[in-house]
Amino acid sequence: MLIRDYLVAVIQNGAYKERSWVLSVLSFTAYNFKHPLKPPVPYQAVRKDEKGTKVWMYYNPALQDFDELEGADPNFPVARPEDHYTFKAGEIPGITEDTDTTFGRLLVNAVIFFDVLKERAPYINGEINRKVLEKIYDQRLADGASEHAGDPKYLTVDEFKRCMNNGFSLGGLSPLCVPTACPETMYPPKFIIELRDKLFAENQGKLNDPAVMGMIQQTLLKEYRAYLMTTPSKKFFIFAKTIDDSFNKMFLTGGIETAFGNNVVIQKSLYEGWDLKKFPAYVNKSVSASFDRGASTADGGEKVKMLIRATQNILIQDEDCGTTLGVPLTLTPALRHRYLGAYVIADGVSTHLDQDNIDRYVGQDVVVRSPAFCKLSHGDSCKYCAGSHNSTNNKSMSSGASKIGSKLMLLSMKSMHKGSRITLVDYDLDEAFN
Ligand SMILES: [Zn+2]
Repeated sequence: MLIRDYLVAVIQNGAYKERSWVLSVLSFTAYNFKHPLKPPVPYQAVRKDEKGTKVWMYYNPALQDFDELEGADPNFPVARPEDHYTFKAGEIPGITEDTDTTFGRLLVNAVIFFDVLKERAPYINGEINRKVLEKIYDQRLADGASEHAGDPKYLTVDEFKRCMNNGFSLGGLSPLCVPTACPETMYPPKFIIELRDKLFAENQGKLNDPAVMGMIQQTLLKEYRAYLMTTPSKKFFIFAKTIDDSFNKMFLTGGIETAFGNNVVIQKSLYEGWDLKKFPAYVNKSVSASFDRGASTADGGEKVKMLIRATQNILIQDEDCGTTLGVPLTLTPALRHRYLGAYVIADGVSTHLDQDNIDRYVGQDVVVRSPAFCKLSHGDSCKYCAGSHNSTNNKSMSSGASKIGSKLMLLSMKSMHKGSRITLVDYDLDEAFN
């Protein structure tokens, strides 16, 4: 049987529900044909080694025996998540026309949707992430009392829960499907070390200037990231933090240790070994990474508490204070979501921004009402200055104000995560306090 037809049979007969089956196709499992520890599950794949010739077989429940699996490379597992297959309409639930898909998608669709919804299951032929799932459930969920109850297009709460639980079970497959490294991520590529040495040589004598070192690291990391994106690990090491911190220190350069008066540059990467002449700098870096991070985080946390204490008696009132002042700004598309529910002032009249009218203001210069300009006494704000979203709870001003402290905390935590890399940024105070 061809793998493609085999997979159709597996889905139609529900064999994918057996953990033993999933393990048998995603990895190499040992199977003793003469004295099996336990009987094979339907469609279980086994690699038979006959006089040195390896061949993939599967347990055919109709024959009650093993049968050959045609076209399966004995050097690899039977099915890898990225392998492509084309299925015809009706072969797989939810597939309504010839569809090219991957084994990974097929398995996820079967486990999350088909197992619970049978022929009502949709087929998502793309990345299945939280957003996609939320959209599906959001559109289809109906409770028992709803007019849609029993409608095949809709889901009951019980079905929804089963879909979710099935989805969680997929997490256990990560060790089989998620590569955690590849040869290219285990050592630095030669070209990047050559580039580093060239940049260091060109800037000799200027390396302990953080701006120079920042530029060098930026150049190196850009090239290194582009290189990583060509490797099998690209989907798993795309996190900026891994590349910028861990890999940077391990493979590129130890970076700069800033100190009053004299910055120390550790040119070598950890891969090349410790530069013992700079041992104090390594120690200082470790101490600052562990202590300073904790201290700055605590500092931000204290600011949050202080702001909550200072603002906890502020109330949001229903009456309009009638101010004609507000914060002038350009309502860019990026700000659209944030200003939904706010009031804009034009010709002395305040208008509430809602889903229906906000697009008229996007791209325009507007004046938005703000608690900073509210005329109510005791620091209170009216709901027009605070905005309708914030006024759903009349004591919400505290949580709004505490965001300033949270932002500071986040920024200090982020800065500590930078590790050996120096990032050149413009610090925008407006961003922190807006
Ligand atoms: Zn007001």
